[in-house]
Amino acid sequence: FPYLPLSSTGDDSSRKAIAVMTSGGDAPGMNSNVRAIVRTALFRGCRAYAVMEGYTGLVEGGPEYIKQMSWDDVRDWSSQGGTNIGTARCKEFRTREGRLLGALHLIEAGVDALIVCGGDGSLTGADLFRHEWPSLIKELLDTNRITSSQYKTYQHLNICGTVGSIDNDMATTDATIGAYSSLDRICTAIDYIESTAFSHSRAFVVEVMGRNCGWLALMAGIATSADYILIPEKPASSRDWQDQMCDIVAKHRNRGKRTTIVIVAEGAISADLTPIKAEDVKEVLVDRLHLDTRVTILGHVQRGGTPVAFDRILATLQGVEAVDAVLESTPQTPSPLIAINENQIHRKSLVESVKLTKDVAAAIQAKDFKKAMSLRDTEFIEHLNNFMAINSADHNKPNLPHDKRLRLAIVNIGAPAGGMNSAVYSMATYCMSQGHKPYAIYNGWTGLTRHESVRSLNWLDMIGWQSRGGSEIGTNRTTPEEADIGMIAYYFQKYQFDGLIIVGGFEAFVSLHQLERARDNYPAFRIPMVLIPATLSNNVPGSEYSLGSDTALNSLMEYCDVIKQSASSTRDRAFVVEVQGGNSGYLASLTSMAVGAQVSYVPEEGISLEQLQQDIKTMREYFELSKGRNRFGRLILKSINASKVFTAEHLSDVITEEAEGEFDCKGAVPGHVQQGELPSPIDRTRGTRLAIRAVNFIENNQDVIAEARSDNYCYDPDDIALHATASVLGIKGSHVVLTSINQLYDFEAEISKRMPKFIHWTKTRIIADHLVGRKKL
Ligand code: ATP
Repeated sequence: FPYLPLSSTGDDSSRKAIAVMTSGGDAPGMNSNVRAIVRTALFRGCRAYAVMEGYTGLVEGGPEYIKQMSWDDVRDWSSQGGTNIGTARCKEFRTREGRLLGALHLIEAGVDALIVCGGDGSLTGADLFRHEWPSLIKELLDTNRITSSQYKTYQHLNICGTVGSIDNDMATTDATIGAYSSLDRICTAIDYIESTAFSHSRAFVVEVMGRNCGWLALMAGIATSADYILIPEKPASSRDWQDQMCDIVAKHRNRGKRTTIVIVAEGAISADLTPIKAEDVKEVLVDRLHLDTRVTILGHVQRGGTPVAFDRILATLQGVEAVDAVLESTPQTPSPLIAINENQIHRKSLVESVKLTKDVAAAIQAKDFKKAMSLRDTEFIEHLNNFMAINSADHNKPNLPHDKRLRLAIVNIGAPAGGMNSAVYSMATYCMSQGHKPYAIYNGWTGLTRHESVRSLNWLDMIGWQSRGGSEIGTNRTTPEEADIGMIAYYFQKYQFDGLIIVGGFEAFVSLHQLERARDNYPAFRIPMVLIPATLSNNVPGSEYSLGSDTALNSLMEYCDVIKQSASSTRDRAFVVEVQGGNSGYLASLTSMAVGAQVSYVPEEGISLEQLQQDIKTMREYFELSKGRNRFGRLILKSINASKVFTAEHLSDVITEEAEGEFDCKGAVPGHVQQGELPSPIDRTRGTRLAIRAVNFIENNQDVIAEARSDNYCYDPDDIALHATASVLGIKGSHVVLTSINQLYDFEAEISKRMPKFIHWTKTRIIADHLVGRKKL
């Protein structure tokens, strides 16, 4: 991206003009999308426009509705919920006359390309508009509403879709803008409900959004360990769902649970397509189980509030891609839809995506639920199976025969991270459904060697763990060799563990490697062992994601939003925020994009004096430019290890000094606040997914390990299958991947730096910088 003057509006009318619109139901993150589109358009040398109030803005036209946007107009929008350019459901646009007016007004404004952020309805309208464009402009020419020169100039309209919808119901993309924020609101509400339900030993039926899509209900069900969910894709007959629900709820109550939570998607139906409403569910719980039952319909709360980090980042990356897509489009290019698959931004066919989305609704209407389910991605199906395995299982009738039942241990190592409890809870409950015996090693390796802190996990004791922060079984940083590896082997032998799950960060990584190496001397370690990465630094080799990194990202983002507000209230103030993460710049880089920080300094790049000078110069320009206008706070994020010399305080003093009175700068240290209080829904649901995969890994590797458990075992470095029985379970894109610890330790890690060799977040840094006009030297 070229460096352009920060005040650029791209006023020259010969430049291409790109307009953005938000349409349909609003979704948190739409503002980040608009901000990214406006600023990227300006960076690309185009004019930027916002169409106000959805398609109504096109039908009405004029500079009030098709408004030229400058760089400053979208400042600070990332943290704001809803959509600042308005949205609407516009009947007129469904008619040809409405679309004709839309075409006229776009041509009058000189717009060449339109990016629509909305749901499938909005994108259907957009595609129809592009399809009709030639005939619309012909009619405008024939009726003398445009000149022949305008007719020639605006032969083609480029359209692009970015999907803004809280339901996460669009086919071909793994996530839609707003869905994770909405899930966050739902989980927070259910966490609140859970405590009052506990006090009165009540049942609550919670209705959440999702007309043809049960994603919100399913994910909230996992994240809050609800007792039962009702979703449109998997209906049962009227009798069956009632029996099944009552059976599961009664089982949980008989085991001693005081609360009952049933989540009903707005579009829940029985197999004969009869809608199931929250009141129907309540009636069943009252009549058949005599539970004191209340209904909570969450409604518009689910759309409200500030977007979570995931949505801000997704919307930003998609906005940048959308501008590039319309600039690269030719008249022959099918309209693109910007999707996220495997954590990468992709262009998909808009028409095809909308068609597939509509196919789900059609399949449900045709009672072809198998097809509806097959049109959902495999992750959705895996989550649904997981939910049923951990929440609905009958522990008296486990899935596996006696000879396949195992004794499995789980331990937390390193600093606490959001999602650790979710992993322990899910591992244990899944073990119970399979027939395995789950044990926790409390307080890490030292807990084991000093106090023999091994306890079997009990279902009732773990109620509520899914939504708790920290580590319920305790954690510390000591590695096996530091603690006493011989003693650890002794206890493994004593409890006859058949498999081990380690949940933690870099010390956990080192722990797994030490245990694998010690297999030669200690037969007790010749069992499948697997690591679930969990650390806010997100620096475990073999995974792009660690449990706790999303919770930390959101905690730091919220902290930065508050600091930024304080800075905005004080004239000409900037803050340097000190960020944790060891040698990893992940947290600082991603937060920087989510909050629109002016600068982020990370250990991978360090702080050079030249770059610091340049950054101060840019900030001075900013403060000069905004004199007499609205005040905005500026943030500088600095990873602790970005510089040994500059602490946040030092750096802020230097910046204040160099700013020569143009602005002043203060230091802010959030410290352990960054670990977060409650785990985010992403960390909770991924904790469950990884824990169940970890148990499956141990089950599947029993045969491989059997031979090695014999006494005449001799370490063979070439025995790849055996070494693969000690692996890291990572997430790459949306795939769960297993990589042997030896491979990672020897080839993919920089052990002295406690970092993976490959850094996967570099691109987000480049985009974050260009969206704030930072000049990189
Ligand atoms: P949500 O997922 O929140 O419901 P949506 O984009 O699907 O969002 P809709 O109400 O279906 O919401 O569509 C929004 C607007 O898009 C409509 O009010 C209308 O102006 C336009 N639109 C929808 N479908 C069409 C269509 N088939 N032809 C023309 N315009 C349409």
